Amino acid sequence: MKTTLRLCAFAVIFLSSHLLAQTDTVAIRYSKNITVAGLSKNLHVLASDEYEGRETGKKGQKMAAEYIAAQFKSAGIPPYKDNTFYQEFPLNLILPTPAEISVNGKQYKANTDYYSFPGQSEQKLEINEIQFLGYGIDDETYNDYKEIEVKDKVVMILAGEPFSNDSVSIITGKKKVSLWSTYSRIKTEKAKEKGVKTLLVVVDNIVEDLEDNKHRLESSSMKLDLKKTEMPVVYISKQMANEILKKQTVEKLKAKISESLKPVTAKAKADIIISIKNNIEKISSENVLGYVEGSDLKEELIVLTAHYDHLGIEGKIVYNGADDDGSGTVAIIELAQVYAKAKKEGLGPRRSMLFMTVAGEEKGLLGSSYYVEHPEFPLKNTVCDLNIDMIGRLDEKHLNNPNYVYLIGSDKLSSQLHNISESANKMYTKELELDYTYNDEKDKNRFYYRSDHYNFVKKGIPVIFYFNGVHADYHKETDEVEKINFEKMEKITRLVFFTAWEIANRNERIVVDSNKK
Ligand SMILES: [Zn+2]
Repeated sequence: MKTTLRLCAFAVIFLSSHLLAQTDTVAIRYSKNITVAGLSKNLHVLASDEYEGRETGKKGQKMAAEYIAAQFKSAGIPPYKDNTFYQEFPLNLILPTPAEISVNGKQYKANTDYYSFPGQSEQKLEINEIQFLGYGIDDETYNDYKEIEVKDKVVMILAGEPFSNDSVSIITGKKKVSLWSTYSRIKTEKAKEKGVKTLLVVVDNIVEDLEDNKHRLESSSMKLDLKKTEMPVVYISKQMANEILKKQTVEKLKAKISESLKPVTAKAKADIIISIKNNIEKISSENVLGYVEGSDLKEELIVLTAHYDHLGIEGKIVYNGADDDGSGTVAIIELAQVYAKAKKEGLGPRRSMLFMTVAGEEKGLLGSSYYVEHPEFPLKNTVCDLNIDMIGRLDEKHLNNPNYVYLIGSDKLSSQLHNISESANKMYTKELELDYTYNDEKDKNRFYYRSDHYNFVKKGIPVIFYFNGVHADYHKETDEVEKINFEKMEKITRLVFFTAWEIANRNERIVVDSNKK
């Protein structure tokens, strides 16, 4: 019945590539239920001050979970496995407790001489030698790691990047700094990747740094699991670094780099003791799951995700996270409603669909990490994850063209997934520009690794990450619903809809045929 209806409704068109393709009029009809009005209504609720910035484990997040579950319910989606919309998970809340550090018997003062962010693994380190590694940069033009083996070593690096004596960055070749200066996480990730045991970062102005990082330093962090010991990172003042380096001094080493325009390394002997203790509270959070069972291929599952948690409140400031990721959350609600409606009307998907809004993303992708370790549906039957994180705003590059979206990951594990996504756009959401800039493995932002889809990638499941790029209000209290471009959101949500529709209804499951980074 369904098949005949669809066959009759097929319209045949030729694409510019001379590929014969058929548009699905049923899909087109349902896509029209994804609307600016629906997206806007839900986002005006979830990104309002009442929801207190939806911080994981807090009241606002619990209220948001209830709201999302209520939307699933009113769309006619039953609780999954007949009992609940929630997948609850336990969390360790790590309260901010400064590390203790002494150098050559002298005790230094936390949050004055040095600082480290809460949530580092509990450990006591007794160090007697450090490796100075310049700026800790690994770039084509300039590589501090090239000549030195750093595995299991205690490494000291400088914040920022090297400049020549006439103030030109050695990395960019211009006065402008690179991401190595503005995005400190690249350096710590690089050090981790190289197997560094402990990382000491010498900051230029510790007073300014402490001020800039005040909120993060005073916030608790969260972890699912405390068993794994991770590389500690400590930011230290120049004075403290000079106590460790002795005669070589930070100033002299910096000058040497600026003169030679080449990496400079050095070794130093010092007795350093670092003691990190954790003060822990047990809390819990929840992912919210809307499961729409498929028909003849119901054992297979398409997952669609977005994180509904955000940064919470800080004093009187509420971080409403309208774009991050209120936008993805309401897109998931809208998609769930449309698929539930199609099912009610006898035109539901052949494969099952899981609409999952996850928590704990801002704390380190925790909700999605918990899900893939405790999947409610077998991962081997999970076909793909389409993850939406920030689709309501424009980045600087696209200020004149709102009709774009960055796609990340689509071709990494499955060329079929990529092709389906491309043709969904060619056939249905034509005016959208699909921008693959951040899909480049050399891109320093590493967005592929930075949202919930990556936990699915780790399990070998193909993904697409839909993203509008960052903007001036990213992670600021100014990420407000008034600034959202709902027309753009509607288009992107429809693209996700058409892509999912094809994956859910085609005869063959998409295959994993590559393993790109
Ligand atoms: Zn986000």
